[in-house]
Amino acid sequence: MTIRDLKKLSSEVYDVLVVGGGAHGATVAYHAAKAGYATALVEKGDFCGATSANSLKILHGGLRYLQHLNIQRMRHSITARREMMQLAPHLVQPLACLMPLYGKGLRGKRVMQTALFLNDCIGWDRNQGLPAEIRLPGGHILSKNKCLEAVADLERKDLHGAAVWYDALAIDTERLILEYILESIKYGARAANYSEATALEKGDDDFYHVTIRDLFSKEHYHVKTKYIVNAAGPWFEQLARNTEKKIKNQKWALALNLVSKKKIFDEYAVALEGISKYADKDAIIKRDKRLYFFVPWRGHTMIGTEYVASNASPDSLQVTREMIQNMVDEVNSIYPSAALQYKDISFYHAGLLPMRDESGEGNVQLEKNSSFFEQTAQNFSRVITIKGVKYTTAPRIAHEIVRFLGGKLSLKQSIRKVPAAVKPSVPLNADHKELLHLLENRYGPRALHILSSIQAEEDDSIWIDEAAGLLKAELEYLINEEMACRLADVIFRRTGLGTAGCPDRNLLKKIAECMGEDLGWDTTRIGQEIKNVMHRYLPLDL
Ligand SMILES: Cc1cc2nc3c(=O)[nH]c(=O)nc-3n(C[C@H](O)[C@H](O)[C@H](O)COP(=O)(O)OP(=O)(O)OC[C@H]3O[C@@H](n4cnc5c(N)ncnc54)[C@H](O)[C@@H]3O)c2cc1C
Repeated sequence: MTIRDLKKLSSEVYDVLVVGGGAHGATVAYHAAKAGYATALVEKGDFCGATSANSLKILHGGLRYLQHLNIQRMRHSITARREMMQLAPHLVQPLACLMPLYGKGLRGKRVMQTALFLNDCIGWDRNQGLPAEIRLPGGHILSKNKCLEAVADLERKDLHGAAVWYDALAIDTERLILEYILESIKYGARAANYSEATALEKGDDDFYHVTIRDLFSKEHYHVKTKYIVNAAGPWFEQLARNTEKKIKNQKWALALNLVSKKKIFDEYAVALEGISKYADKDAIIKRDKRLYFFVPWRGHTMIGTEYVASNASPDSLQVTREMIQNMVDEVNSIYPSAALQYKDISFYHAGLLPMRDESGEGNVQLEKNSSFFEQTAQNFSRVITIKGVKYTTAPRIAHEIVRFLGGKLSLKQSIRKVPAAVKPSVPLNADHKELLHLLENRYGPRALHILSSIQAEEDDSIWIDEAAGLLKAELEYLINEEMACRLADVIFRRTGLGTAGCPDRNLLKKIAECMGEDLGWDTTRIGQEIKNVMHRYLPLDL
């Protein structure tokens, strides 16, 4: 059982306490626990509930970095992407990306063909250890006619063809991060959501004493640890300021994606140039427009990413009607056949990402690489802060941090062995096979566990809602084994039922009532939980 237990979590002494359960915190916890460090992770909201739930879901191999001739960065993306695909093959799939080619010379077909060839060579080991169905094929060039067959209604003037390459699509970014946390727990880590690190101080015993507040009971716990990894994403300064007086004011960009109910492209994720001017300062091969991706996903289209400089606090980040309408207008200018309307938008992704100082008005430049640094204040060494710009490369940063811990700071490792997974022995009839298939798509090898508990039930109705594909046993599992504490955890971060658009209110009510039975919610609380889920769709027209 991986239940949320802050009493237990605070009763042990750790080598590493990770603050933040997004892509960076989760991957650090996994690699630290796997390496044998006594590890704990605390997250003030739900796991993967902030920036990491808001990505375009593309696990990049870094073809774009060829523009910068940054081979090392490409390798980091390729190996990190492979690790994620290996850890949770049921949550990823190959994504064919297509970019129409309009230019000549450096932006023409020949140069692009060479770039695709180099991309394949640099990523020669991209499929090593991956199951056949998720392996990524090599890139190729399409003729003008084939390009127009694949993507209708493109601007034809000066079109020469298209470049096609393969990245990976993380179908469910939230569960992918959860997989890292669940795996870290298998390696002996402790983790708790809705647990905020509110203060840290160095004790006479040379350990950090970190105060953790349980967001439900409001109780405070104290955790003793040698090292702290500050993986608090856009909150990193708040935590780092406790220990580092010299920290500069970080600038931030608000990144925005739209999710449209309208399927715009079917077969490919299509990359089209935006209208506004954009200068990528580091690019050797310049393009003066930002690329927007139109990504087919769950019968919808994700479109992104737009960036604007922002002073918003991460606690009160708001996306306005005007911001969404502006992006809808931009999409229609880029690809008029989309004929997108405000009412087509069923969801959006928004988050704050670290921006470079020299970004100009309307020309946002994100920090070039994700990075980490150790606090310099003498009595606050051993606090490591992460500044992350990419979901894809989080495992790479995690590797580097664990190496840093092991090398420079010479922790003693005692490799823990993961107990072999106990597979419930389930005799499968035809109905069970169908259920297993459904569950495996969400839970991978954990599906059998859920299936075995279905059989243990006497009740003849196994569903909470058959159309939504949600089983009673599944909800039990999510509450008892995956720390789902709120309706929003189930809707957005465990099942993905609400990540492409707002589920039917009756479905929300059914799920909330079932959770209420387990968690002791009264009708007022059930109403609040539903309201809280609906709030996530503002200011969209539902
Ligand atoms: C719209 C958009 C599109 C993007 N598209 C892509 C893409 O296609 N591919 C890609 O690779 N990347 C993409 N990114 C970037 C990527 O999503 C982020 O770089 C990455 O997810 C950041 O992860 P993180 O763990 O650093 O931060 P977060 O995910 O924000 O995690 C930090 C966590 O720390 C917690 N926390 C903060 N303070 C405390 C505290 N005191 N105690 C406990 N917990 C605390 C927060 O609640 C939060 O959950 C995109 C980002 C956005 C916004």
